[in-house]
Amino acid sequence: MPDTSYLDWPFLEQRHKELALSLDRWATANIDEAPHARGLETDHACIGLVRELGGANWLRYAVGGQAFGGSAETIDTRGVCLIRETLARHSGLADFAFAMQGLGSGAITLHGSEEQKRLYLPRVAAGSAIAAFALSEPDAGSDVAAMQCAARREGDAYVLNGEKTWISNGGIADFYVVFARSGEAPGARGITAFVVDAGATGLEIAERIEVIAPHPLARLRFSDCRIPLSQRIGEAGQGFKVAMRTLDIFRTSVAAAALGFARRALDEALRHATTRRMFNRTLADFQLTQAKLADMAAAIDAAALLVYRAAWLRDQGASITREAAMAKMVATESAQQVIDAAVQIFGALGVVSEAPVERLYRDIRALRIYEGATEVQKLIIARELLKNAAATGKP
Ligand SMILES: Cc1cc2nc3c(=O)[nH]c(=O)nc-3n(C[C@H](O)[C@H](O)[C@H](O)COP(=O)(O)OP(=O)(O)OC[C@H]3O[C@@H](n4cnc5c(N)ncnc54)[C@H](O)[C@@H]3O)c2cc1C
Repeated sequence: MPDTSYLDWPFLEQRHKELALSLDRWATANIDEAPHARGLETDHACIGLVRELGGANWLRYAVGGQAFGGSAETIDTRGVCLIRETLARHSGLADFAFAMQGLGSGAITLHGSEEQKRLYLPRVAAGSAIAAFALSEPDAGSDVAAMQCAARREGDAYVLNGEKTWISNGGIADFYVVFARSGEAPGARGITAFVVDAGATGLEIAERIEVIAPHPLARLRFSDCRIPLSQRIGEAGQGFKVAMRTLDIFRTSVAAAALGFARRALDEALRHATTRRMFNRTLADFQLTQAKLADMAAAIDAAALLVYRAAWLRDQGASITREAAMAKMVATESAQQVIDAAVQIFGALGVVSEAPVERLYRDIRALRIYEGATEVQKLIIARELLKNAAATGKP
């Protein structure tokens, strides 16, 4: 394990330190870092990881409510962040498997009925049911409120029609938390959340999508998909709030995953720079290399401070819109630079397929886009600043 001194920072408690260290030991012994290099196809590898993470009790941190299999009554943001950071250091796919169980069931933890919690959360925590979060559409990505997928009320049922795309776990999920336009009001106030079982009549996987860092991803089509009222999550017209509250937790954890990727890149770079010989010295003996390593280390600490500040604040019950946006923007953007520097330090070895730094180079890219692209995070931060300035009357 790399330098763990950050586990003693005041944002974290002793139990967090123990969690991170024990997960690291478990991951070292159990996680297959390169399933694709060994010819394992993505769906199979991902399902296997969910089952393993569930079997070893790590997924209990992805859900809230001890009666429903959760590790605590509410989701511990710092715990989730440390788990994602640690898993990301070992394997992008393991981090993905953990994160999607949380993101895909977060709306149920936060707003689900007792019956929904009883039906879904224990299976998510055990790894026996795979969760997915279906918000984006072909014409509604950053502009979520432009969504068109429709939910029409018919007696004690809703009928869904439309498409969702870029849905992680699409094709292997057992259920999808789906956000659809139910029409109570225009824009963001006319959206409702539902939980839809994968086998529901009228739900089909329209397309499987291959991406730069392979993981299960699909476009879903709903054609007169009839679901009982009992599958609605929260109140009608409150779906946008449900989605945003879920993303508030998991946006910070995307930053934590980026941090894990960056830490791994620095470890790899240090190992290579201190062993690679050239010009009768090691690569690390050159000041140009030292400058790179210094930039990488400082960027990692800056990102970590923002991640654990946001996570700590949320665990104190604070609103973290600005802090989560800052953490995500800085951690994902700087991780991309740290990883690129690591590839450079490796030379040709850095671009060999399935070399650790080559995998990291692909793993990090999408994090700057999903759960709010960097540009969207900038707008959020600026909006909060301006709102505050207007409220206080100070610049
Ligand atoms: C690997 C992966 C997994 C995903 N998993 C899921 C999932 O599980 N569930 C789900 O619902 N969605 C998922 N998504 C979708 C993701 O949330 C969207 O891709 C994201 O919200 C951006 O939407 P978009 O791709 O339509 O890009 P667009 O909205 O078309 O934006 C394109 C680009 O425009 C820029 N931009 C955006 N807004 C502004 C602005 N106001 N001003 C200037 N520039 C701007 C940004 O650079 C952005 O990347 C996933 C995406 C990827 C890549």
